[in-house]
This record gives sequence, structure tokens and C-alpha cells, in this order.
Amino acid sequence: MSSVPSLLARSLAAVWHPCTQMKQHESLPLVAVVRGEGPWLFDADGRKLLDGISSWWVNLFGHCNPRINAALREQLEQLEHVMLAGFTHQPVVELSERLAALTGHRLGHAFYASDGASATEIALKMSAHSWRNRGRPEKNRFISLTGSYHGETVGALAVTDVALFRDAYAPLVRMGTTVPTPDARLAQPGESAADVARRAATALETHLAAHHAETAALIVEPLVQGAAGMVMYDPEYLRLARALCDRYEVHLIADEIAVGCGRTGSFFAWEQVAGPAAEPGGGWPDFICLSKGISGGYLPLSLVLSSDAVYASFYDDATARAFLHSHSYTGNPLACRAALATLDIFAEDDVITANRARAALLGRLADERFGARAEVEHLRQRGMILAFDVRHARPDFARRFFAAGLEHGVLLRPIGNTVYFMPPYIVDEAQMRHLMDGAAAALDTALA
Ligand SMILES: *Cc1c(COP(=O)(O)O)cnc(C)c1O
Repeated sequence: MSSVPSLLARSLAAVWHPCTQMKQHESLPLVAVVRGEGPWLFDADGRKLLDGISSWWVNLFGHCNPRINAALREQLEQLEHVMLAGFTHQPVVELSERLAALTGHRLGHAFYASDGASATEIALKMSAHSWRNRGRPEKNRFISLTGSYHGETVGALAVTDVALFRDAYAPLVRMGTTVPTPDARLAQPGESAADVARRAATALETHLAAHHAETAALIVEPLVQGAAGMVMYDPEYLRLARALCDRYEVHLIADEIAVGCGRTGSFFAWEQVAGPAAEPGGGWPDFICLSKGISGGYLPLSLVLSSDAVYASFYDDATARAFLHSHSYTGNPLACRAALATLDIFAEDDVITANRARAALLGRLADERFGARAEVEHLRQRGMILAFDVRHARPDFARRFFAAGLEHGVLLRPIGNTVYFMPPYIVDEAQMRHLMDGAAAALDTALA
């Protein structure tokens, strides 16, 4: 026996892994990844896994993407980092301009951070501070949907409605209010998804009518509530919510951290609400948060895009009216350069169009494998997100499915009894078949 402890043992001793009850690793081994290539991850034993969830929804164009690698190498030789207060640089300027253009210049001011939760906090702080600057300091409460997930820092937990992530910290958090989710699965017999959306919007209206005077913003995950278990809903809800927020003078924050960057079939999910950004017209949110895919899954980068009206409410001679928020790595040049390379791939490869065919094939393959299975319900899809729920799943279903998936060469991590697929935008037909076959086999094992 070797006296050199394995990487896995060293990791368990020294690394506190995220979103993990560490004791469960007594029976479920960690996976030591040594290399990535395209949609594949290779572990220390030479095992090959298809990354069916884009490494927690961040990786858009595969691991070790040659184009993003080349851009980063070039940037490394020019500038790795400089503080953004009082200084600027080419990558952050170009990225901000390009993102503003992608919103049709409706949200033309980009504020940067590193993680999604920080972007949520920035949007919440900006909204409340903006009202304060406009003489409405009492507008400082927030609304989110039931089952919402907007990150796990103490501020973001105020609008995150996932009991498992929140309950232990409830005494630390100034909770927001939740209003009913427009989850399409809640349709009564004879009701459409749009009917559910209208019902949920009526509940939002009731809340706003009573509480708009103290409400700063409604924050939503447009079209798909990811961490809730890929809850999908009709865009009609967001159209109605936008109109209600206008009527009651409440900001609307679109958390596109998971659903942005092409995931739902348009670059911003909101384009399916208000129409393409290039076309004139209103109905856009006051803030859009991005993170996860924006750097192609390479580096921690998040940002909040805001409207001219919000920006103008801070622009003043008084320092205290400014948005005095910062992170040391705000606008990091390497992360911005990875994001620029990511946007280049979107443009050069017309990714949104190409993904239509890819998503259609993913849907067909899933329907073949799972459509007729008695244990499967609510098979649903929005762009490059596909999910279904498993009936009568045992409490440890997600862990059993994950472990079985590894045996069949796929990385899939169900949320509760919801199995979902969120592959990088480079998977070809053979890889999608491998993913679906692996999932089918994992389902058999997990249910056995
Ligand atoms: C992942 C996620 C966040 C938090 O991002 P982190 O980088 O994990 O802090 C916030 N909102 C949504 C919708 C997310 O999916």
C-alpha cells in the first residue's frame, strides 16, 4: 500500500467542498478531474464523463476551448489585472459596450463583480439606493417568486426561497416577500401555462396594490427557475409583471445568471418577453444580472446592466449619492477577455441559430428515451434546458442517479426528483445520444 495519500483523501482533509454534506463522501467518492476537452471531463483513472450540466451551468463552448484559451493567453501577456476605481482598460470597455448593444442600449451601464450572488446584491442595493436618491427611502423591500434562487450570500438569501439553503441563516436575513410562482405544472385541468401565468400575475398585483409604497423591486429568474428544479413558465407572466411594476413604480430585476447567454434560446431570455433587442419597444427590465456563462465558464465574472434612468439617479455632485460598492477584482481584465472571446463565438458561429437545431434534437432524443416511461412526468424544455420529474423517487434519488451516471460516463446531478440536461452548446448528435443513453441507464439504476 502506498504511504502517499491519494488526491481524494487530501481533498477530503483540506478542501471544504461546496453544497456538500462532507460526511456523505464516506460512501460517495469524489471525482478527481485531470483534464477537460470539449464536453468531456477526464478523471485520474482515465474515465471519461460527458459534462451534461456544463459544470454547474457555466460552460458554454466546452472545456479548454481553443479560441477562449488563445484570447486569454494574449491577454495574460498584456495585463492581468488593474483596479477599476479611477482606471479602465480595453477589455472592460469593449465588453460593456457590446453588452449594452445586445440590450438595444436599453441597459447601457455595466457594473462588475465576480459571482452571481454579488450581482444579485448589487442589483438589490442599486434599486433601493436609487429610490432613496429619488426621495423614496421607504421603498426598500423586495419581492421574489416562490422557489426562487438568487444566490446564497446573506443579502441574496433575502430573495432566495429554497428552505434548505436558507433556514439555518434565517435569523441573519431580512427576508423579502414571495409571491406565487407561475410554474406551468400548476395548471388545473383545462388551464394553459398562460392561464397559470395570469393567475400568478393577479397575486402579484394584489401584493403590489397593498405594498408598492415600501417595495423597491421584484426580482425574477426569467422563463426558468433553475435551482427550484428547472421550473418553466409562460413569458406572459413577465409581460404582465413588467406592466404591473410600471403601474406601481417598482423596479424589475431580471436575474439572467442561469438563463442568459443563450441558454433559453435567445441571448437574453427577456427577448422572448419583449421581442428582439434590435427592434424598438419597451417592456425591458430595469436591471439584468449576468454571470455563469458570460465568461464561457472560465473565470468568475458577474455584472449588472442597468437603465439610463437608474444610472441618472446616482449621477450627482454628492459622493453619498453615488453607488459606493466595490470588489477587489471588479472588471478583471482576464475575465472580461474570456467574456469577449465568448461573445465572439456567439457572433462568428451564429450560436443562437445553431442551437435551435441542437435543442430540437435534444428534445427528440429525450422524448424517445423518456417520453413513454411511466415514472417520468412533466418532460419540458426551453432552449438548451431540458428536464423531467421522476414519480415516486426515493429520498436519495438524486445522489443515486448522480453516482449511477458516473458509471455510465455522464455527469448529471438531479435536483430532488428532477433530472435535467444543460449541456454545452457544442454537443453533437453522438454526444447527445451518449448523454441520453447514460441518463436512461442511470434512471434504471436509481429506481432499482
Ligand atoms: C447560480 C445562480 C446565482 C448565484 O450565482 P453564484 O455565482 O453561484 O453566486 C444567482 N441566480 C441564479 C438564477 C443562479 O442560477
